[in-house]
Amino acid sequence: MSSAAAFVPATRELTELADAARRCKGCPLYRDATQTVFGSGSTSARMMLIGEQPGDQEDRAGTPFVGPAGRLLDKALAAAEIDRADLYLTNAVKHFKFTTDERGKRRIHKTPSRTEVEACRPWILAELDSVAPEVVVLLGATAAKSLLGNDLRVSRHRGEILHATGLVPGGDPALIATIHPSAVLRGPSETREAAFDGLVADLRTAYATTRTVRNDGSAGSGTFIPAARPVRK
Ligand code: SF4
Repeated sequence: MSSAAAFVPATRELTELADAARRCKGCPLYRDATQTVFGSGSTSARMMLIGEQPGDQEDRAGTPFVGPAGRLLDKALAAAEIDRADLYLTNAVKHFKFTTDERGKRRIHKTPSRTEVEACRPWILAELDSVAPEVVVLLGATAAKSLLGNDLRVSRHRGEILHATGLVPGGDPALIATIHPSAVLRGPSETREAAFDGLVADLRTAYATTRTVRNDGSAGSGTFIPAARPVRK
């Protein structure tokens, strides 16, 4: 079975993890992408944001959230009065999955399969273990399913404080699922403003949660959902 597990070193050092991720062949996605796009941001962030996968611009730059969806996210963070420099941003899948148009020139995003998401999960768990955020924002269905399993419906649990016990040994971060910024960009123009406002509201809720986390690492009450597959020991 495809898995990044054999490529993930037993370290909590993010630079070592990022370096090892450059050589990952845990699933076939490394073959066509330009490079691994590992997470970036504050290594002691209280809040981590997890998206789906790098897009075309992220694949070329090697940095997450620098394309159109990243710029939309920046606007939403500014509206929520959250400084991006305080966050750690990453994706559930570290290589760009795409198809090309008929002329073979334009690279078009393809949603990663369940197998690819599962293969890449050891990297997310390693990042969670290293950064040890108090709150994790799951941007879209792929990120939510990566940590909470395939049955998780973002529409049903959106904006709620969720918990998945046993994800990482160090503590149980509060999880908040919301839409991916690209859903705002792709949505119909008449609902775009409301979709943007909803994303801002969920980011505000998540950020406020970092101020209510107790010393034991728990954000108190919330919905408990079994973790998809806790593997980081
Ligand atoms: S997508 Fe993830 S598991 Fe697949 S090769 Fe890239 S880093 Fe490894």
